[in-house]
Amino acid sequence: MELLRPSDLTDLASAGLGNGAVALAGGTEVVPLVRDGLLHAETLVDISALVPRGIVVADGAVTIGAATVLGELELSESVPEALREACRLSASPQLRNMATIGGNLLQATRCWYWRLSYGCWLQGGSTCLAREGQGGEHAIVGNDRCASAHPSDPAAALLALGATVRTDRRTFPLADLYRLPTDDDRALTTLEGGELILELSVPLPDASVYLKAMDRARYAFALVGVAAARFGSEVRYGLAGVAPVPWAISSVDALDGATPLEQSAYKVQLARALVERAGAAVLA
Ligand SMILES: Cc1cc2nc3c(=O)[nH]c(=O)nc-3n(C[C@H](O)[C@H](O)[C@H](O)COP(=O)(O)OP(=O)(O)OC[C@H]3O[C@@H](n4cnc5c(N)ncnc54)[C@H](O)[C@@H]3O)c2cc1C
Ligand code: SF4
Repeated sequence: MELLRPSDLTDLASAGLGNGAVALAGGTEVVPLVRDGLLHAETLVDISALVPRGIVVADGAVTIGAATVLGELELSESVPEALREACRLSASPQLRNMATIGGNLLQATRCWYWRLSYGCWLQGGSTCLAREGQGGEHAIVGNDRCASAHPSDPAAALLALGATVRTDRRTFPLADLYRLPTDDDRALTTLEGGELILELSVPLPDASVYLKAMDRARYAFALVGVAAARFGSEVRYGLAGVAPVPWAISSVDALDGATPLEQSAYKVQLARALVERAGAAVLA
């Protein structure tokens, strides 16, 4: 395997990203996936010289370079509280020192069948093994094909905050970065091959909060994570751990249509309680 370090976006064109080559940011996800044979790459392309890093506030929004690490976001007073807290509650301090926000948004599912290469539906097979087997940490909505639970805390916060994404090709709402997989196309994101996330633009809310239920007090993925952001009288919510993609809702009533697996039914109650608590916190 070769490692390329292009110095600008023109150089990148010849690196073959998306065509056998894979972008490498902090490597906290890429390296384990390559090691475990879940990601096949002839070439890794270190994108650290191409993707901006840092936090700038201007015109009622904060612009975050995609190479900014979670540890910087949790410490910055310019960053809305929901995103700071979502970063603070992610992973461990060592990981947050390496893990970029761009890489965090694109991390793969933690579903144990997928991570252990069982050849489940999302891996091109015919069956969602979690539905028939161990589904206790799995999705409660958007789960008719794949019942994996999206692991990103920051993505839930950015969704509630109404962030937009700028890539090397286009700008679009963060919500459009994700898609539910279908039989024809099992991808969970809408990025084109080789497309790089460069920046996020995050509107500054009047109030925001992130609450996370874990099976231990720290260093665990969300069973359910709920971000709430208030802009004037409007409150928006972004949820982690409930669907194969980060999930936006505008009120707790949206959970009435939840379709949990038998073993993940407890998450509906958990999500309801956290949405109500987060909503009350931003309205207080
Ligand atoms: C033990 C452990 C615990 C964790 N706990 C949590 C948690 O509680 N909550 C949580 O939210 N996350 C958690 N994470 C996930 C962690 O935050 C991510 O692994 C990390 O943010 C990925 O960032 P990276 O820079 O290391 O990405 P990399 O590993 O370098 O890349 C990840 C993916 O994104 C792609 N990529 C990276 N940057 C870009 C870009 N700018 N444009 C396009 N593609 C890009 C890569 O090609 C790759 O597919 C945990 C991870 C580990 C290993
Ligand atoms: S939840 Fe998704 S990733 Fe997990 S076994 Fe089912 S199809 Fe595979």
